[in-house]
Amino acid sequence: MEKRKTFPEQKQELPGNEYLMHPEPEIIRENYIGSGKLLGKVAFITGGDSGIGRSVAVHFAREGANIAIVYLKEDKDALLTKELIEKEGQQCLLISGDLKEEKFCKSAVKKCISLFKKINVLINNAAVQYPQNELEKITAAQLKKTFETNIYPYFYITKAVLPFLNENDTIINTSSVTAYRGSEHLVDYASTKGAIVSFTKSLSAMLAKRKIRVNGVAPGPIWTPLIVASFDKLSDFGKDNPMGRAGQPSEVAPAYVFLGCADSSYITGQFIHINGGELVGG
Ligand code: NAD
Ligand code: MG
Repeated sequence: MEKRKTFPEQKQELPGNEYLMHPEPEIIRENYIGSGKLLGKVAFITGGDSGIGRSVAVHFAREGANIAIVYLKEDKDALLTKELIEKEGQQCLLISGDLKEEKFCKSAVKKCISLFKKINVLINNAAVQYPQNELEKITAAQLKKTFETNIYPYFYITKAVLPFLNENDTIINTSSVTAYRGSEHLVDYASTKGAIVSFTKSLSAMLAKRKIRVNGVAPGPIWTPLIVASFDKLSDFGKDNPMGRAGQPSEVAPAYVFLGCADSSYITGQFIHINGGELVGG
C-alpha cells in the first residue's frame, strides 16, 4: 500500500474526518437490536468521535449506556456522534483535547465524573499512524508522537479512571493485527500496538483481585478516517486477508459490547481478533 502523507509533512494534527469519507462507514447495522446489556452504565471512550470509537459509542448507547467521548479537534464528527447517541435516548458528553497531556487526561475524567457521577466501562482507543517504508525515515519526532499518542494515554487515562471503577466494571483496549503479525510500513505504530497487548495482560492480572476485567480488541483493516488520512491507494485496502475485504466499524463494535458487559464475566486479559480471517493468536 502506498503512503499518502508522511510525518512531518502531515502537519495538521487530525488523523482524519469521517464526514468527508466516501463511502461512509457503516456505524451500526440497521437490524442491531439492543437488549439493555449496558443499561444504566457509563462508558468513557477515547477517540469516540469517529471510526471504531464512534461505532462503539452508538452500540453502547443502544444497549442503554450514557457516553463520554474524548477526541482531538474533530468537532463536526463529534457532534454527529453525540446526535446519534441522543437518538438512542442516551446522553453524550463531548470532551475535546490532547490525550498526550496527562493534565488533560485527568481533567477529562473529572468532567465525566462531574456529569455522570461514575464510569463503568473505559475504552482506550485513540491513535495515530504515519506510514514509513524505511526505518531511517522514522524520525525521533515521529516516534515520540506515535508513542505519546498511542500508549502513554492508556496509562494516564486508566490511572485517572481507576479510583472510580468498582467490581464488574471493565476496561477495553484497542490494539491491532499489526501487533501480532507486524507491519512493514507501520513499524513504530505496530510497536505501540504490541505495548497495548502487554499493558492489557499485565493490567488484567493486577486488577483481577478487584474484579475489574481488562480485555482488548485487535482489529484488522477497518474502513475509518485513520485509513483515509494515512494511505493513498485505498482501492486494495483490506483485500489481502482471507475474506478479501476491509471490515466496517459496525463489525467491530459488538465485540466491545460483549467485553464491556456481563456476557464476558469469566474473560480477562484476552483479545478478540476482528480481521477478516487472518490467523493470529494470543
Ligand atoms: P479514527 O481516526 O476514527 O479514530 C482515532 C481517534 O483518535 C481520532 O478520531 C482522534 O480524535 C483520536 N486522537 C488521535 N490523537 C489524539 C490525541 N492526541 N488526543 C485526543 N484524541 C486523539 O480511526 P480508527 O481506525 O477508528 O481508530 C481507532 C482505533 O482502532 C485506534 O486505536 C487504531 O489504532 C485502531 N485500529 C484501527 C484499524 C483500522 O484499520 N482502522 C486497524 C487496527 C486498529
Ligand atoms: Mg476522528
